Amino acid sequence: MSLLLNVMNIAVIGSGVTAFAAASYLSKKGFSVDCIAPRIEPMKKEIDKVYCSENSNKFLSSPKLNRADFIYSKNISDKVFPKECKDFTGIEIVDSIGLARYWGANLAKYALNESINKLNLCNEDRNFLENLIPTLNVNEFYQELNNNKYVQNLKKSSFSSNKNYNQTSLEIFDATLAIWKNKCNLDSLPDERKNEAIFGSNFLMPNSYQSINGRVVDIMNIFDKNKSLVIKVKFKNTFILKSYDYIFVACGAIGSYRLISNICKDTSSLGISHKIKHHPMISRLAFVPNLECPKKYISMSNFDIAMTVNKCNIYLNFYPLKGLFNSYTRNSLKSKYIFKIIKKIYILLNIKSDSPLSISWWIDRLYISSLYFDSDLSSSYITSSKDNLITINGGFRADFQKLILRNTMPMIKSKLKNKKIFLIPFISKIHKPGSDLHYSSTLINYTNKESNLSINKKTDSRIFTIDSSSSEYLPTANPTYYFIARAIKLASDFSTSKR
Ligand SMILES: Cc1cc2nc3c(=O)[nH]c(=O)nc-3n(C[C@H](O)[C@H](O)[C@H](O)COP(=O)(O)OP(=O)(O)OC[C@H]3O[C@@H](n4cnc5c(N)ncnc54)[C@H](O)[C@@H]3O)c2cc1C
Repeated sequence: MSLLLNVMNIAVIGSGVTAFAAASYLSKKGFSVDCIAPRIEPMKKEIDKVYCSENSNKFLSSPKLNRADFIYSKNISDKVFPKECKDFTGIEIVDSIGLARYWGANLAKYALNESINKLNLCNEDRNFLENLIPTLNVNEFYQELNNNKYVQNLKKSSFSSNKNYNQTSLEIFDATLAIWKNKCNLDSLPDERKNEAIFGSNFLMPNSYQSINGRVVDIMNIFDKNKSLVIKVKFKNTFILKSYDYIFVACGAIGSYRLISNICKDTSSLGISHKIKHHPMISRLAFVPNLECPKKYISMSNFDIAMTVNKCNIYLNFYPLKGLFNSYTRNSLKSKYIFKIIKKIYILLNIKSDSPLSISWWIDRLYISSLYFDSDLSSSYITSSKDNLITINGGFRADFQKLILRNTMPMIKSKLKNKKIFLIPFISKIHKPGSDLHYSSTLINYTNKESNLSINKKTDSRIFTIDSSSSEYLPTANPTYYFIARAIKLASDFSTSKR
């Protein structure tokens, strides 16, 4: 049997986290797997450094996007993957593990539990998923680190870490982060900076499958079952042709759309726009009197909330404000004299006090909340304009301002108030469409429910698109863990069908 699998050649296109999951799974099952994606290292030498000195933007959705290495990487990636974004934050990263090199690593495991259960992964595949991505439960971590304080206070305000996602009521979840607990340095817990404890931050390609350096520009012989599939890979100014029995496309919702829509331009009508789903996102400052952020804390989401208001699903991540403050004093604002003074005052005031008269008492109870709204409220479109270039026009549904800001927001506030979480008035930011960086569903018109390429009633069951681009469903909670599980499920079904 394994002899048969070894002679079957599979290409996984892309090197993001979904490609990593599928390539690891298929190679473990005995298939011969090539993972094809461009590597950033050789390009760094070629691309002009001056081009890469873009200013940081303090109003972006995550402080990670202000990192110098992110900006440098993004500028190189924009040259490799050209796109025009109008009122849309569209990010692709060439580097191995893609966007997950800089992600917030929030797995939202409890909120995604129901959706992942629906994938019907067998026990073996569940274990594979669990072993592939580390999980750190922030609540339990603080419990060990700070003698139960965080947990006690959660209970005082009637919080519970329910593990079932109930669509009709507000639920508070422990944050689950893709962090290796044993790699955490207690004197420098994970924050927005590169950290070897965060999955993806220091990613090295595994050697369980072969990696081929280059960008895939074409797949030939699609729909011609008498000929094997041939992939055309561009590396520098040369092209390599390689033939495969099966192809798994995992270039991310934007990258897979660029590749497939360009390849299929003869059979489909190029120039037509397709929906790109994402979550409208708002940031608010929140005061949580019963939840003191510990002295040693992880500057990523510390707890999450799922709620349904006005038939609209909303998911909230809560980040300690002091982490964001430290990030700004460390990076973009460090040269500004005024902030140096504020930091000094802050350090002086940071002497722990149990009295609300001390400023540190308040700061320790302030969180930045990121609210992600149902992707049905997004209205953004992606178009393949000409060779390799794509255009994205961002937008929210026409009633977003009226429905959310006028009607839903007061209801969200009142639901949170019942849990003793107070959103501070006026300090609010509606982020540009796409700022959540959770994109999906761009290729649902090009794929069938098995995720095979399917256009104009012609299906090629040798090509699978396994990332979020082929999924109609975009969970409201941080969705990547669901898409990793889905990629494993698609690889698993394929593997079973070949036995
Ligand atoms: C700052 C930030 C914070 C985030 N926080 C979270 C979070 O807390 N929780 C969460 O769930 N999600 C989060 N996300 C989103 C998450 O990182 C992405 O959803 C996920 O990494 C997408 O993985 P992917 O494999 O689908 O695609 P990508 O990461 O986009 O990878 C695509 C890969 O394909 C390659 N590629 C593209 N085109 C081609 C081609 N033609 N040929 C060959 N290779 C190609 C690219 O080089 C890239 O390596 C965050 C993202 C960012 C940037």
